[in-house]
Amino acid sequence: MKPAAFDYVAPESLEAAVEALVSAEGEGKVMAGGQSLMPLLNFRMTRPSVIVDLMRIPGLSSIQLKGDTLAVGALTRHADLEFSDLIKTKLPVMAAAMPHVAHLAIRNRGTIGGSLSHADPAAELPMLAVFYGATIKARGPNGRREVLAEEFFVSALANCLEPEEIVFEIDFPVLKGHIGWAFDEVARRFGDFALASIALSFALSDGRIADARVAAMGVADTPLRLRRVEDAINGSRDGAEGASRFAELVRASVSPSNDVHASAAYRKHLIGALAEKAFRSAWSRAVGEKS
Ligand SMILES: Cc1cc2nc3c(=O)[nH]c(=O)nc-3n(C[C@H](O)[C@H](O)[C@H](O)COP(=O)(O)OP(=O)(O)OC[C@H]3O[C@@H](n4cnc5c(N)ncnc54)[C@H](O)[C@@H]3O)c2cc1C
Repeated sequence: MKPAAFDYVAPESLEAAVEALVSAEGEGKVMAGGQSLMPLLNFRMTRPSVIVDLMRIPGLSSIQLKGDTLAVGALTRHADLEFSDLIKTKLPVMAAAMPHVAHLAIRNRGTIGGSLSHADPAAELPMLAVFYGATIKARGPNGRREVLAEEFFVSALANCLEPEEIVFEIDFPVLKGHIGWAFDEVARRFGDFALASIALSFALSDGRIADARVAAMGVADTPLRLRRVEDAINGSRDGAEGASRFAELVRASVSPSNDVHASAAYRKHLIGALAEKAFRSAWSRAVGEKS
């Protein structure tokens, strides 16, 4: 199928893009990399009266260290994140996840702002935004506002933006002293959306886990930060022996649903298995063993 007819504008500033959306009176859609929007248009699952192409707006595709925060412009491509030395050193869990996002051709076009706004519950970047406690910055007709990633994702394919708001930057706090970390996922074929995925990171203080971060996806309508699991492993000095307890804690904290891709029971089993493997890998990394 081909898209229904639409007008096309390519403004050269964020303000002009917002104005174009306001003029469209709720019928406009912004386009970034187009990797999710184009299929929706072609299947006529969305029929905007006007497409507002963001790609001519300058200054929205940088990765900058500002103090303890990595500020990422909304038009930064997945491939730029994948090959950035700053991401590798400051957000290693993201660096490990990026090769799992679709295929290289898609990563060359898709943007972080598009991925977050599309809010697919099986997409890596929304989970990483929740994992790192990112702040999502958006511009609308009433100015700018900032939303924490955990509040940004409302349900599957739904975020909290108003129709005239545009994401322009995402700020990721750098997790200090997090020498233990891991990312893992299972997809039916490499490059497909994941069935389930886990991200884990922690510091060590006197041999005990401290400041743990745990997030999961594929087990709910939105990515989840598993704070109870974090609390339960903080202070633990079980080392790799703690992996099976960690897996149990993760399994107990999620309630996936059945869907066409997998049963709830399978997803629950899978997230536990991924958690156990990720914990061992993170611990080995933290104590300098080969994982
Ligand atoms: C075959 C295939 C496999 C894929 N596999 C994966 C995968 O494994 N993991 C994964 O994470 N993704 C996957 N994707 C999705 C891909 O990563 C997309 O690039 C991404 O989800 C959307 O980014 P985009 O820049 O292309 O956004 P677009 O397609 O341009 O836009 C997506 C949506 O976000 C809105 N939007 C875009 N930018 C903004 C903004 N700055 N502010 C507000 N709203 C905005 C648009 O209006 C639209 O509703 C896959 C895509 C395809 C086609």
